[in-house]
Amino acid sequence: MDYAIDPPPLPSLPVVGSALRFPVRRIFCIGRNYADHAKEMGAQVDHAAPMFFCKPADAVVTDGADLPYPSATADLHHEVEMVVALKAGGRDIPPAQALDKVFGYGVGLDLTRRDLQAQAKAKGHPWDVAKAFDHSAPVSALRPAADAAPGPDTELRLAVNGEPRQHGRLGDMVHDVPAIIAALSTLFELKPGDLIFTGTPAGVAALRRGDRFHAELAGIATLDGRVA
Ligand code: MN
Repeated sequence: MDYAIDPPPLPSLPVVGSALRFPVRRIFCIGRNYADHAKEMGAQVDHAAPMFFCKPADAVVTDGADLPYPSATADLHHEVEMVVALKAGGRDIPPAQALDKVFGYGVGLDLTRRDLQAQAKAKGHPWDVAKAFDHSAPVSALRPAADAAPGPDTELRLAVNGEPRQHGRLGDMVHDVPAIIAALSTLFELKPGDLIFTGTPAGVAALRRGDRFHAELAGIATLDGRVA
C-alpha cells in the first residue's frame, strides 16, 4: 500500500529469552486497583465498576532508554505496575478464559503529571494530558506466561536512587487479571498486541531529573531507567 506520508513505526517490546519483539497495539490502564493507593489519593475503590483510561502505544519507553522529563509539569509521579500483554483478544471474554489471551507479563511505570491530574479532577476534565503524554509508559522486557506467571504472592517493587518507594503484592489488587480483562472486553474489543497496566500500590511520589529507578515484578521482570 502507498501512503500519503511515511507510516509511523510500530512500537514494540523485547521478549525475555527471544530475539522476537512484541508489537504494541494499544495501552489500557486501570485506576484505583489497590486500596492503599486509592486511599493515599483520597479516592474510593469501586469494587463493581473498575475505572479505565488509555495511553497511546507510542508512549512506551523500552530497552533501557532514558526518559525525558516531560514538559508542562513540575510534579512527575511514578506508579509501578504489573503490565499484561495480550496475544489474543475478543469481546465479552469470560474471566475463566481470560488468562488464555495473555502472552506474558512485564513491569512498567504509569507516569503521571500529578499537578495536571489534580487540575483535571478539580475541573471534571479528562485525564489525557496527565496520563497519556509522550514517554509516559516505560515497560520492561516481557516474560512469556508459559515461562513464568505471577501469582497472588508475587511482589511488585520500585526503588528510586536505591531507596525503596513502592511495594505491593498482586493479591492486594481489587480486580485481578481475569476480572480486568473481562471488564475491559465489555468496553473494547481486545486485540493481540494490547497492553494492560494493572494499577499501582501505595507510595507514589515524584521523579526528578537525574533519578534512576529500578522496578521489579519479582521473579518475572525488571525495569531500570533514568530520568534525563
Ligand atoms: Mn496507574
